[in-house]
Amino acid sequence: MSFESFGLSDHLLRGVLAAGYENPTEIQIKAIPLALSGKDVIGRAQTGTGKTAAFMLPILDRLSAGPQNGGKKKVRALVVTPTRELALQNEQFAIKYGKFMQIKTVATFGGVSIGNQIDALRRGMDMVIATPGRLLDHLNRGTVNLSQVEIVVLDEADRMLDMGFIDQVRRIIQVLPRDRQTMLFSATMPSEIKSLALRYMKDPVTVEAGIARNPAEAINQQVYRIGRENKIDLLIELLKNPEMKSVLVFSRTRHGADRITRRLEHSGVKATAIHSDRSQAQRIRALEGFKRGHCQVLVATDIAARGIDVQGISCVVNFDVPDSPEDYIHRVGRTGRMDNAGDAVTLVAFDEESNLNRVERFIGRELERKEHPNFPAEFKINVPRQHEARAGAQFRTNSGRRFGRKSCRQRVA
Ligand code: AMP
Repeated sequence: MSFESFGLSDHLLRGVLAAGYENPTEIQIKAIPLALSGKDVIGRAQTGTGKTAAFMLPILDRLSAGPQNGGKKKVRALVVTPTRELALQNEQFAIKYGKFMQIKTVATFGGVSIGNQIDALRRGMDMVIATPGRLLDHLNRGTVNLSQVEIVVLDEADRMLDMGFIDQVRRIIQVLPRDRQTMLFSATMPSEIKSLALRYMKDPVTVEAGIARNPAEAINQQVYRIGRENKIDLLIELLKNPEMKSVLVFSRTRHGADRITRRLEHSGVKATAIHSDRSQAQRIRALEGFKRGHCQVLVATDIAARGIDVQGISCVVNFDVPDSPEDYIHRVGRTGRMDNAGDAVTLVAFDEESNLNRVERFIGRELERKEHPNFPAEFKINVPRQHEARAGAQFRTNSGRRFGRKSCRQRVA
C-alpha cells in the first residue's frame, strides 16, 4: 500500500512525501480510507504508531477540497487534545503535511496569552487545534465560531478522561453542528470513552493498530530493583553508556523532576526539565534544546511529556513506577517510535513493587530484571513488622520466583 493509492490531493501528497514518509503505517492504512469516505472512525492506537497522520491527512484533504471562496476563512476542522504539547505537535504536523497547501491552522492552549490566539482566530482559520479548557474560554468569550465545523477529532481521548476533561469535551461537542464527521483516537478504551463514542458518533467504525495493551514490540524493557536513595546514582551510572544519547526520564512529581535535573547537572550531565510548573516558553525551549541534542536528558512529568514527539529517543527511564499501567505504556511509547529500536528502563524501589506487578499484569508479561554490578538489587533489610506479610508476598527473584515471608529480609540477588 502506498500513500498515492489513498487518492489524496496532489499538494497534500507532495507534503507527505516531503515529510519523508514512504509507506503508510498500519493505523494509516486502516483509518485513512474510511476517514476519506466520510465515516466516523474510532482509532485504537498508541502514540508512536503514526496516528496523527491517520487523522490529519483526511482533515487536510477535506479542507483542500472545500469551498475556497476567497473570503474570510471559517473553522472547518477541530482537533481537541489533552495537552498543550500535543496541540503544538499536531499543529507542527499539520504545517508539515500541508506545506504546499494554503491551509491556516492555529493551536490554542492555556498557559500563554490569549491575545495572539484571538487575533489569529479573528483573521480566520481553517483548523483549530485546542486543549479543552482554552477552547471553552474562547467559546465563552465568543472569539471562536465552531458552527461551520465539518470534522472533529478527539485525540488521546483516554488521556482527556484521565485528566478530568471529559465534561469539557462534552460541552464542546454539544456546540458543534450535528452534521459532522467525528474521529476519536485512544490507546485504551475505558467504558466512559465507549459511551462518549456511542453518544456522539454516527455508526463509527473501529480500527486498531497493534494490541492496545502492549507497548511497541521494538522496545526493549528492563527493570532495576534498587533502593530509592540509590536511584539517582544508578541513573548517572547508566547515562555513562555511550548509547544513552537522548534519554527521557520520567518523574511522578514536578519537584521530583526538578530534583533529578539538579542532581544530574551537578554530576556533569546536561539535563533539562519539562513540567507544568514551568512556563510554556520554558517548556518549548527545553523541548527544542533536547530535540537539537543540546541536552542528553529531558526530565518530564507524565502530563508534560504527553505530546512529546522527538525522533531518536534512545531510552526512556521511569525514575519511579507510574501508578497506572496506561501511564507506563505512554511513557515507554516515547522511545522505539515507528520501527526504531528503543530501550525502556524502570527503577523499582521496594514500595513500588505492587505498581510494577500491576504494569506486568496489564501488559501480560514479566519484564526482564537487570542488575548493575555496582548497584546490586537490594531491598530494605528492616521491613516494618506489620508490612512483612504483604512485602513477602511481593518479593520475587530475578527469575520471577517468589520469596516467602522469611526470605523478604534477604537480599534479592
Ligand atoms: P504519531 O504516532 O502520530 O505520534 O507519529 C509518530 C512518529 O512517526 C512521528 O515522528 C511521525 O513523523 C512518524 N510517522 C508517521 N507516519 C509515518 C510514516 N508513514 N512513515 C514514516 N514515519 C511516520
